[in-house]
Amino acid sequence: MADNKTQGQILSEKLLIESKSAWEKISDVEFKLTFELCERYKNFLNKAKTEREFVEETEKLAKSKGYIAIEELINSQKKLTPGMKVYSIGRNKTVVLAVIGEESLEKGVNIVGAHIDSPRIDLKPNPVYEANDMVFLKTHYYGGIKKYQWVTIPLAMHGVVVKRDGSKVNIKIGEDDNDTVFTITDLLPHLAADQMQKKMSEGITGEGLNILSGSIPYKDDKVKEKVKLNILNILNEKYGIVEEDLISAELEMVPKFNAVDVGFDKSMIGAYGQDDRVCAYTALEAILDTDRVKRTAVCILTDKEEIGSMGNTGAQSSFFVNFLADLCSLSTDNYSDIMLRRCLSNSKMLSADVNAAIDPTYENVFEKRNSSFLGRGIVLQKYTGARGKSGASDANAEFVGEVRKLFNDNNVVWQSAELGKVDQGGGGTIAQFVANLNVDVIDCGVAVLSMHSPFEVTSKVDVYMAYKAYKTFYINLV
Ligand code: MN
Ligand code: MN
Repeated sequence: MADNKTQGQILSEKLLIESKSAWEKISDVEFKLTFELCERYKNFLNKAKTEREFVEETEKLAKSKGYIAIEELINSQKKLTPGMKVYSIGRNKTVVLAVIGEESLEKGVNIVGAHIDSPRIDLKPNPVYEANDMVFLKTHYYGGIKKYQWVTIPLAMHGVVVKRDGSKVNIKIGEDDNDTVFTITDLLPHLAADQMQKKMSEGITGEGLNILSGSIPYKDDKVKEKVKLNILNILNEKYGIVEEDLISAELEMVPKFNAVDVGFDKSMIGAYGQDDRVCAYTALEAILDTDRVKRTAVCILTDKEEIGSMGNTGAQSSFFVNFLADLCSLSTDNYSDIMLRRCLSNSKMLSADVNAAIDPTYENVFEKRNSSFLGRGIVLQKYTGARGKSGASDANAEFVGEVRKLFNDNNVVWQSAELGKVDQGGGGTIAQFVANLNVDVIDCGVAVLSMHSPFEVTSKVDVYMAYKAYKTFYINLV
């Protein structure tokens, strides 16, 4: 029908950015693949609500695909050859996987990096207290949350306790249908006259996020705090722990609900922890589906992004660079430091993290021409940061061009965006920390509604495009 187009229509098609829903662009085959992938994604989310669980599930899948722990290779003094698949786990909370390419590691690797920690509510080291015949647990929230969203919802408890003798107990309460759950109470509207006059940031306080955990007293008139004693007794009988053991513990309160479809058309997914497990899971599937590559493919799944990527399991740690050094040294007989440095300088990375999808109810904080839209494909974000790009690594135009060409050539539906209006706020990702190692990095992830809430929403077609983008980055960026 090209003949019937006006000169203006032809020019528009040639010159203007096309903004169209990815749903309108995908084939029937891809439509089916989208829904299949999202079923696997929802199942994975239900099994992996914490960074530790994500690592455990990743190891299971990786092993089933023939991945070998890098420590095994080091111990057996075996060398790496193209096509081999290896992984390494850092302190049970971060994991990195690689498929060895045909080209020397000195030429660089293709990295997709996402984070597997999510905003949540952590127990304090000394959490248990009794008040008015009830027992509560003190908490310290983790990451940026709007506190009012976390009260009066069912919460599950996930984590580990290291006992006095050094042994470790895993705890997971609240996930099975018949399991007991926990909750944070809120004031009834009838008596909330003062509370409702407060600013939203002060209506619920950090010290107000106390977890309701029990109310039956221990029957013995000789003891005080009978309810607390009864709860500690239950914990002791079930897990063999005492109060002091909670100091050497990591117990995280997360929403009880499972991942579900959203909307009449089931086009969206509602779930806790999609920032950033939506990118982490799709990056994981992408590397697990990758066999032969020219350049070595690397998938980093890191912890602590939500609190600044600090610590030995965060993206600022040497964990990742040490892994690359191991890859280099295991692939040659004459390893030297310069090989690792050259590897880093020639490497390219998609920092796979979410972006805020434009929300029509709150449109005024977005700048529409540079915002991401739910369902318009994966979001390329040249820079993050706040107030004058502060804290951004700001990808080079040359690298943006390379990724853009890659996506266009391989039918990845993508859009370009930054996070909200200038001076409205902002955020950061792990991009800057890897860019500091002289790696080319650009942010590239899925648009999310209600980010950092207990129930975040994504579009299924964007989830599929994330997978497609990461896989094409591994296979076709040469
Ligand atoms: Mn994130
Ligand atoms: Mn986040």
